Amino acid sequence: MASGQLSRAEALACSGCRHACHVMLYADTKAQLFGRIPIKHIILMQMRFDGLLGFPGGLVNPSKETLESGLTRELSEELGLALPISVEDHVDSCFAPASSSSSSHLITHFYVKKMDEEQIREVERAAASTATDHGLEVLGMIRVPLYTTKGGGGLASFLSHSFIGSARSQLVDAMLRFNLVTPGELHKALTHSLKTHAHTKQDLEAALALMEERRKRF
Ligand code: AMP
Ligand code: MN
Repeated sequence: MASGQLSRAEALACSGCRHACHVMLYADTKAQLFGRIPIKHIILMQMRFDGLLGFPGGLVNPSKETLESGLTRELSEELGLALPISVEDHVDSCFAPASSSSSSHLITHFYVKKMDEEQIREVERAAASTATDHGLEVLGMIRVPLYTTKGGGGLASFLSHSFIGSARSQLVDAMLRFNLVTPGELHKALTHSLKTHAHTKQDLEAALALMEERRKRF
C-alpha cells in the first residue's frame, strides 16, 4: 500500500476520524469528437461550490451508516439518483492532509463504478434537474476529456485546473488502474499540463495588472 493509504478496516478503526466518500462514475463510449477523435471513456466529475473540481460524494458517519450507504445518500443529494455503491467498488482509503490544525483527521474513501453510457446520461440529466444540491453545493457535472488534440488541448488542459484535496491524484490513479489512458499518454499530458499551468500564472498576473490599472482610473 502506498504511503498515506490504509485498508478499509484500519480506516474504520480510527476513532475520532471524520470520513468522506467519493466516487468516480465512468462508462465506455464509441462517440468521436469532430467525427474523428475517439472519446473512448466518459468520466464524471463536478464543479463544486468552492470553484474546485472534485468527485461526487461527501461526509459519511460510520457510527450511523455504512460507508457505502452514506455515499449513496450523498449521491442522491448531488446527483438526484440514489445510486447503489458496494464494497467491491472501493478502491482506496487515505489520510487527507489536515485543512487546519484544529480540525480532526479526515479519511477519504475512494470508489470507482463502471456504468453504461445511457446510465451516465441519466445521471447527468437528474443532476441538472432533480438533484437538491444543483446550483448550490454542485454547480454542474462535467466530463473529463481523455484525448489530446493536435494543439495539445484535452487531458493536459483539464489536469491543469484546480482540484479539491487529492482529487487530481485520485483521477490519475483511477485512469491508470482501469486502463482508461496509457501511462505514456498520461505522462505526456501531465508534462504538458505543467507548461499550461505556467501560462495560467502569466495570464493571472496580466489580469491582476489590468485590474489594478482600472482601479486607479475609477
Ligand atoms: P464534500 O462534502 O464533498 O465537500 O467532502 C467532504 C470533505 O472531503 C471536505 O472537507 C472536502 O474538503 C474533502 N474532500 C472532498 N473531495 C476530496 C478529495 N478528492 N480528496 C480529499 N479530500 C476531499
Ligand atoms: Mn460533495
